[in-house]
Amino acid sequence: MGAPPIPPTSDQVAQKLASLKLSLDPEINYALDSMFPKIEGWFANGPVKKKAKLIHLLEPTLIELLKPNERVLFVAKGVQHSFVESMFMGAMWAAMLNQMAFVLTSDRVLMIRTDTRGNPKHQFWVIYYSEVDDIKTSWTGAVQLKLLDGKKPSFGGFPKADRAAMKAVFDTVLREHEESGYTPDASQSMETLCCHCYDAVPEQSFACVTCGTTFWKPMELSLRSLLFPSWGDILMKHYLFASMEMFGYLIGLTIVIIMLTNSDGPDELIGGIAALAIFLLFAHGVDAMLTYMVGRKGLYPRTAPTKQIEQLD
Ligand SMILES: [Zn+2]
Repeated sequence: MGAPPIPPTSDQVAQKLASLKLSLDPEINYALDSMFPKIEGWFANGPVKKKAKLIHLLEPTLIELLKPNERVLFVAKGVQHSFVESMFMGAMWAAMLNQMAFVLTSDRVLMIRTDTRGNPKHQFWVIYYSEVDDIKTSWTGAVQLKLLDGKKPSFGGFPKADRAAMKAVFDTVLREHEESGYTPDASQSMETLCCHCYDAVPEQSFACVTCGTTFWKPMELSLRSLLFPSWGDILMKHYLFASMEMFGYLIGLTIVIIMLTNSDGPDELIGGIAALAIFLLFAHGVDAMLTYMVGRKGLYPRTAPTKQIEQLD
């Protein structure tokens, strides 16, 4: 353990980006000195290029999300932890569905669901700094937020260099906000944003009052998955996961039906019927439960906006 590295200056970062032929959108106000924690030394170029690539993918969305004068302090991508999802879907699938880009700005934390490369999906959250009680990083690489409403979302999978840097930026901006006393209203600490107009959609609400977009209720998604496994996932646009699930379901169903039709005598027939019942209960039930859990974590659009979005600020 040595002393923490001295962060580079904005000029040094700008030079580094130019030397690597990387450029960021001049329309966005970036704090370059905190965006790239390490630009010198062996193997520094790879992470710099990787982060610039992530920022590029997020920029069109950021231009719509950011308010005038909002300054971007830090960007990183991690994975939101979910123990139950990892257990029932497998860690790989759960990680694929829970990719999250973090954008720490001068005003708030913007969180954007992405695919594994960093392309934004249709889910957004905001956390105001006044809603953050504490941020912890563990030796395993996990970053845990302790929020004022009692929730403790935990994230992993950040590049190593980003973990310490993100905590440092967080700590500084939290202190500044505490001193400023800026406490915007929020219905929950991790406030969900509408995917069309980016206005807050309060907790337990499934329609955006600003633009009229409506969203699926978790129970509506769950009941569809209960009727037909993967239906809820299709509605949430998790197409790859849904097709994998449907494939597994049809294979399982084929196997128990073959067992049933090949049964010899009443004992085997009863066994086959029992196997079919257990299979159906498990496949439909587990999918309904998982769909409910995934469905309540964010908003999934059901109907398109009814009002034209004018220039919002
Ligand atoms: Zn809206």
